Amino acid sequence: LFLSLEGIDGSGKTTQARMLAESLRGRGHEVVLTREPGGAPGAEEIRRLLVEGDGARWSPETEILLFNAARRDHLERTIWPALAAGKVVICDRFADSTRVYQGAVRAQLRAVVDSLHRLMIGTEPQLTLIIDTDPEAALLRGLARPGAEDRFERFGAAFQAALRGGFLALAREYPRRCRLIDGNRPPEVVGAEVLAVVERALSGVARP
Ligand code: C5P
Ligand code: MG
Repeated sequence: LFLSLEGIDGSGKTTQARMLAESLRGRGHEVVLTREPGGAPGAEEIRRLLVEGDGARWSPETEILLFNAARRDHLERTIWPALAAGKVVICDRFADSTRVYQGAVRAQLRAVVDSLHRLMIGTEPQLTLIIDTDPEAALLRGLARPGAEDRFERFGAAFQAALRGGFLALAREYPRRCRLIDGNRPPEVVGAEVLAVVERALSGVARP
């Protein structure tokens, strides 16, 4: 089973991904917890190229190519082998982040994003949990944590609000795969709902 967690910066994706991995391992599943950009040694090198330096380093088009290069390496080295071995893969961000950030908000290059995805990626998660969190709250949380100094998170609340709109639109675009989860609740409460949705998917029970 291939799962992704998506949402704006500071929405709680990483916390939820960790909690979910722990819960599933406790239930006897073999879990690979991974992230984008990154998730494999080469892809992590590409991540550094993306998140370090100032926002003017890459054109939007080059940035999309780098995200796709990182994703392809991540699939080849980490995700495809894990899925072939029957493991549960939990990915903190995947292609939906590129659709929203580069496709709709930081740039409006969705057609480019989709073409490259078709050509070079193909794989889509079976289930995507979109953690939907108030942009102001998420921004405070995001900026409070270590490592938040990367160039992408220096944008303000309006930017985070636009991202949120992008993720809500994606949830409507892919209703079979995407589940919106209210992230404005304590992490344990959010986590309980995340686990319930994932367990339904794991047991193959038809989703509403
Ligand atoms: O989720 P994480 O904090 O690891 O993402 C690293 C940075 O890359 C974040 O600041 C995020 O906003 C940015 N990002 C992006 N476009 C993507 C994925 C992530 O700008 N497609
Ligand atoms: Mg971040």
